[in-house]
Amino acid sequence: MIPEALLSQKDLELVERVREFVAGVPKELLAQMDNDEVRYPKDYLLEAGKRGLLGLRFPKAYGGGGLGWREELLALEEVGVLGTSLACLYSLISIVGEAIVNFGTEAQKERYLVPMLKGQMGAAEALTEPRGGSDFFGATTRAVREGDAFYLTGQKRFVVGSEGADVFLLYATLDGIDDPKRAMTAFLVERAEGLEVRHLYGLMGTRGGGTGRIVLKNVRVPIENVLGGVEGLGRGTEVFNRMMIPERLTSAGGSVGMGRAALEVAAAYSDKRKAFGEKIRRFQAVSFKVAKSVTLLDCARALNFTAGELADKTGPTGQTRRFVSEAKRFATDAAWKVVNEAMQVMGGIGYTNVYPIERLLRDTRLITIWTGTNEIMDLLIQHEYFRELLSSPKKTRNVEEDAQGAEYEEEKVYE
Ligand SMILES: Cc1cc2nc3c(=O)[nH]c(=O)nc-3n(C[C@H](O)[C@H](O)[C@H](O)COP(=O)(O)OP(=O)(O)OC[C@H]3O[C@@H](n4cnc5c(N)ncnc54)[C@H](O)[C@@H]3O)c2cc1C
Repeated sequence: MIPEALLSQKDLELVERVREFVAGVPKELLAQMDNDEVRYPKDYLLEAGKRGLLGLRFPKAYGGGGLGWREELLALEEVGVLGTSLACLYSLISIVGEAIVNFGTEAQKERYLVPMLKGQMGAAEALTEPRGGSDFFGATTRAVREGDAFYLTGQKRFVVGSEGADVFLLYATLDGIDDPKRAMTAFLVERAEGLEVRHLYGLMGTRGGGTGRIVLKNVRVPIENVLGGVEGLGRGTEVFNRMMIPERLTSAGGSVGMGRAALEVAAAYSDKRKAFGEKIRRFQAVSFKVAKSVTLLDCARALNFTAGELADKTGPTGQTRRFVSEAKRFATDAAWKVVNEAMQVMGGIGYTNVYPIERLLRDTRLITIWTGTNEIMDLLIQHEYFRELLSSPKKTRNVEEDAQGAEYEEEKVYE
C-alpha cells in the first residue's frame, strides 16, 4: 500500500470505499469461479456499479467518477487482491469504456457506457485471433458492407466474457482496403446479434470469467454500431492505441494488489511458523525474500503512478506508450516473482489450497502473457526509447566527451 502520508483525504476515502467493496466479495464466489462453477459473476459488477466504483476516470455526466489514473490505480491495487479474473472484469469496463468515451457517438455512450458504469452491462474486448495475438494487425476477421450494415466473418479467441458479457468491442478489417492499419475498425457487437461462442477454455487459473472462442459467420452489425459511427470507419488503429493504455495500466495496477496479497499472507506466516526453535522470519533467507518483494512492489507502484500521470497529461503519445509498457512489464514480472517467493517462504503448505498462494500463483502466471506479452512490451519500450533518443537534440551534458581518450577519433570505428 502507498504510504498514507502521500494520500489526500479524498484518496483515503476512495481507498476505504474500494476496500469495503472488496471485503464484501463472498469467499464462496472466488471458490466457485476457481472451480468453473460460476462463469461470469454479474452480481459482482452490479455491486461495483452500485457503489460508484466503475469507470472512475470517466466523465460524471455518464456515471463515471470524473477522476484520473492516480485514483484508478489506487482502486485497482485493492481490487487486485481478488485475483486476475475479478480484477479483469473490473478493468474491462475501464478498457472498453476508454474506447467509447474517446471515440463513441453520443448515442453509443448512452446505450453502452451508461449501463456499463452502473454494472448493468458486461463488456468484453475481442482482439486476439487464433492465428496470433501479438500480431494484432495480422487480424483476418473481415467486415463486408452491404447497405446500412456490415457482415462480420472470422474468429476471436481467449475473450474474457465470451460467456456472460453483453457487448463486445470487436476489431475487424474493412473489406477492400489492403493496408490493415487503414482497414482496422472497431465495432460494438451485441450478443443478440448472433455471435457464437464455440469453446470455453480449460485455464490454469483466471477461471470464472467465461474466457472463450468466438466464431462470427456473416454476423450483421448495423452501421450505427461502428465505434464512432460512419466517422469511425478505418479508425481502429487509433482506437487500439488509445485502448492499450488502460489495457496495460489496469494489468499493472491489479498486479501490485496480487503481489501484495500473497506477500502479506507469507510474511504473516513467517512471523508465526517456527523452525530450529526460531520464527522463520529470523532467517535472512526468509526475511530478505520479504525485503526484495516489498521493494519490487513499491517500485512497481511508483512506476504505475508515473505512467498514469503521463497518460492523464499527454494521452497516447509515444512517451506514454513507453511508460505504460514499462509499467505493465515491471509490475507483472514483479508480481509473478513476489508470488513465487511467497510460496517459497511458506514451504509445502504454500503449495496446497490451505492458503491462497497457489491460486494467486496460477493467476499471476498469466499476467506476463496477456494484454500484450512482456516481450512485446520490451519491443515497444526500446522502440520508443530509441525514437526519443535519436530524434531529440541532446539537452544534457555530453558525457561521451568526458572520457580521457575522447579525442582519439580514429578509435571510434562504427562500421
Ligand atoms: C486467459 C486469457 C485471457 C485473455 N483475455 C483476452 C481478452 O479478453 N481479449 C483478447 O482480445 N485477448 C485476450 N487474451 C489474449 C492475450 O492477450 C494473448 O494471448 C497475448 O497477447 C499473446 O498472443 P498469442 O497468445 O497469440 O501469442 P503469440 O502472439 O503467438 O506469441 C507467442 C510467443 O511469441 C512471442 N512473440 C510474438 N511476436 C513477437 C515479437 N515480435 N517479438 C518478440 N516476441 C514475440 C510472444 O511474446 C510469445 O512469447 C487472453 C489470453 C488468455 C490466455
